[in-house]
Amino acid sequence: MIIRAFRFRFFEENLKRPGLPAGKGRLSAVAFSPSRLLSDFSKKTSIGAPRGKKSSNNASIPNAGYINNLNFGALTHNQKTMSLEQDLRDRSGNVCELCSSTTDLDVYAVPHSPEGDTADTAIFACGTCRTQLENPDQVEPNHWRCLNDSMWSPVPAVQVVAYRMLHQLKAEGWPQDLLDMMYMEEETREWAKAGVAQETAANALVHRDSNGVILEAGDSVVLIKDLKVKGSSMVAKQGTAVRRISLDHENEKYIEGKVDGQQIVLVTDYVKKI
Ligand SMILES: [Zn+2]
Repeated sequence: MIIRAFRFRFFEENLKRPGLPAGKGRLSAVAFSPSRLLSDFSKKTSIGAPRGKKSSNNASIPNAGYINNLNFGALTHNQKTMSLEQDLRDRSGNVCELCSSTTDLDVYAVPHSPEGDTADTAIFACGTCRTQLENPDQVEPNHWRCLNDSMWSPVPAVQVVAYRMLHQLKAEGWPQDLLDMMYMEEETREWAKAGVAQETAANALVHRDSNGVILEAGDSVVLIKDLKVKGSSMVAKQGTAVRRISLDHENEKYIEGKVDGQQIVLVTDYVKKI
């Protein structure tokens, strides 16, 4: 009970944190990061539990079947996400598991993680580390000299993040030296490498419309001919605008978007960017 009382106070502090939009502090502490966990996993795995319901910022809240290696009976969403965070606080000793900072700590879900053992596929990381992990263009190589120590963490999720960041920075020289020294179980190494391969593949794909113009997620396109939708009687008419497309990360010929309220896959040869 004492811990719980403290934790609610922590959230209130967060709500008051200056510089954050209203409600943002609470979300970052309670629901945001675990929802990233959910969205990362729901793409790749079939957990079988129903999708979380939408919260006010459109982030889904993890469902009850999600965190399957913590032995919950019946808890509210908030209690559950707090438990995941508490789990990581305990493991990390309340410091960033990568750089040991104690500032702006939160859950970071390791992308491209295997199914199951979900609490083991997150790390506790500071704001600086999380920002740079999520934005490759903002990476400051020298910040990651901290991996010199944290790559020896016994926690596989930390090893995976360390490996991937060192791999990303290996042109600097010293990260390659660390990579050469790094020890990982075979299984952990596979997990780390799978992410590197998927990132590379996703970055290598370039989607182009019928005129060769590069398409990006969120763009709008128009259909340049009538398209029969496979497996249905639906025909998407020439001239139909499809707004806010998403890109298929495995095939550069495919994009997705809504036509007549239905999410369909479109071949890039038959669309034109508008
Ligand atoms: Zn950090």
